[in-house]
Amino acid sequence: MLYLCATPIGNLEDMTFRAIRILREVNLIAAEDTRRTRKLLTHFDIHTPLIRFDENCKSIVAEKILQRLQAGESVAVVSDAGLPAISDPGADLVRFAIDSGIKVCPIPGANAALSALICSGLDTTKFLFAGFPPKTKKNRHEFLEKLSTIETTIIFYEAPHRLKNFLSELAEVFGERQAVLARELTKVHEEFLRGNISELMNIDEPHGEFVVVVEGNKNFQPLEENPLEFYEKLLEQGFDKKSAMRETAKKFNVSRREIYNTLIKEDAK
Ligand code: SAM
Repeated sequence: MLYLCATPIGNLEDMTFRAIRILREVNLIAAEDTRRTRKLLTHFDIHTPLIRFDENCKSIVAEKILQRLQAGESVAVVSDAGLPAISDPGADLVRFAIDSGIKVCPIPGANAALSALICSGLDTTKFLFAGFPPKTKKNRHEFLEKLSTIETTIIFYEAPHRLKNFLSELAEVFGERQAVLARELTKVHEEFLRGNISELMNIDEPHGEFVVVVEGNKNFQPLEENPLEFYEKLLEQGFDKKSAMRETAKKFNVSRREIYNTLIKEDAK
């Protein structure tokens, strides 16, 4: 059996009884950072052998782990914090295990995204977990544009030194929307900063860990509602093509590229 075992995201009291028992019982623990996990294991008096399993050594270690699983041993995967395989190593190992006919079992527990969402005050009935935004500006912009029409609440992870920049790009692409910065969840300085994206981007020197939860697009109207007519009306009113496209994109709350593609398709009919 391969166990995917949650660990605390700050507060050690969030370790579950089951996680402690499983981590004691398995033959091996595959950890993202063995030094960090060793501290956690020492705290809970767990003495199971550890192997490092991070992004850099994935395939060789995965092979070793699979051999042990196939020999009938049990292995638990843990990341530095929260659920393994959620913006953390583990997903590949799960896939390898499934492909090799090995059972996988979740040991649930703390997770930053869901902890932020449930305290955000935003709609929790449907949501999209978007993880970390891409690091390059161009990819990040495309990523945000694609998400800008999503109607459900969206959850992002972001590093503190990139947060301000990310929020200003978010304001640019998403416009005025409610958002929540969930900071240092489960820790002493836990706080929730709520407001419009443009207010939140003025946060000075963000410290600690953050989850960004953003309201979905409430004004989204599918493009079928005739952006072409709107665009043509603007041209008649004397707008040049570029401005008409910009205004149409604004009106339908989508990216200019999407409007452009729609117009091209309409032209081709
Ligand atoms: N696997 C983890 C989980 O289940 O939540 C996520 C790991 S990911 C590498 C780390 C990111 O999660 C951080 O950059 C931050 O965005 C978020 N995060 C983790 N712990 C947090 C905490 N205590 N408070 C706020 N955000 C946290």
